[in-house]
Amino acid sequence: MIRLDGSMGEGGGQVLRTSLSLAMVTGQGFVIERIRAGREKPGLKRQHLAAVQAAAQLCSATVEGAELGSLRLAFRPGPVTPGDYRFAISTAGSAMLVLQTVLPALWQANAPSSVELVGGTHNPLAPSFDFLEHAFSPVVRTMGAPLQLTMRLAGFFPAGGGQVRAEVAPATWQALDRLQADAPPIVHARILTSQIPSHVAQRERTVLCQRLRIAADAVRILDRCSPGPGNALVVVLARQGGGEVVTALGERGVPAEDVAHRAADEVEELRAADVPVGPHLADQLLLPMALAGGGVFRTVEPTLHTTTNAEVIGRFLPVRFDVREDRSGDRKTWVIEARRA
Ligand code: ATP
Repeated sequence: MIRLDGSMGEGGGQVLRTSLSLAMVTGQGFVIERIRAGREKPGLKRQHLAAVQAAAQLCSATVEGAELGSLRLAFRPGPVTPGDYRFAISTAGSAMLVLQTVLPALWQANAPSSVELVGGTHNPLAPSFDFLEHAFSPVVRTMGAPLQLTMRLAGFFPAGGGQVRAEVAPATWQALDRLQADAPPIVHARILTSQIPSHVAQRERTVLCQRLRIAADAVRILDRCSPGPGNALVVVLARQGGGEVVTALGERGVPAEDVAHRAADEVEELRAADVPVGPHLADQLLLPMALAGGGVFRTVEPTLHTTTNAEVIGRFLPVRFDVREDRSGDRKTWVIEARRA
């Protein structure tokens, strides 16, 4: 059993999810103590428990400590069974993070699978459905890992109830190579609204068009897309072979213009950085790169999420990540390279 300290590095739920993914992939069990010790309310929240239960179902694992608030979990995986799965997260917890937990195991399985998820699709501090569809999926597909996503309904906090389907097939891994940003990205946006006044999306569109210098028809408004109220603003920076996605969520009491400005600020930062991989995609690409046995990309300064993920992966797989600063261009960038240790 691999022993992990959940307070390592970033000290949040990602340490647990990466461990679950890699336990399924490698067949190695693990014990994690001090789960989410870096958070205000440590231990397993409903959304982390949903990831544990999904993983356990996929590989018939023996699990100890799978309870709300638990600070310790022991997970002994069995063989992964591909098939048709359905996972429901009873609160608006992120269904996308549960999906990301099970994907590596399904890519390593010997037959295709499908996964239906019910829960949150646009949550704070988590990848949105659109991020997975337009940023993560295209890149992993170029790495030989099939993934097709469809969203029937969006799920916003607190009602949840989003519905997503993922089609996954066994991967034929190829090393990632995303060092160049190529031509400037084509920018388009989606504004998702449900049960809120229509002027909200209109006002967000006006700000986005002004700030990002894009035409009104580059911003699609999708209304009545969720069982509960909510608003998400998604900007896609599309490039050949995969782009980047910025998601800003509307909040009660926050003017629509502020939400749009928040998204535009983030887009401008990414455009100015002119790297092919942004900070969130960077931490989420480490695991596929490790499974591919290598790869390299250029990004902005690595976050604690990224360095923590690299550390957890190194506990399960003989892969090392080199992180190098590159000052050769107009501005400082970082190159992350995965190599077999
Ligand atoms: P907690 O932080 O409370 O433990 P958690 O388990 O949901 O909760 P983290 O460990 O912080 O959270 O992991 C969140 C994941 O969501 C990370 O992989 C991070 O890269 C990703 N993420 C956060 N915000 C975004 C975003 N705007 N776009 C894409 N991905 C995001």
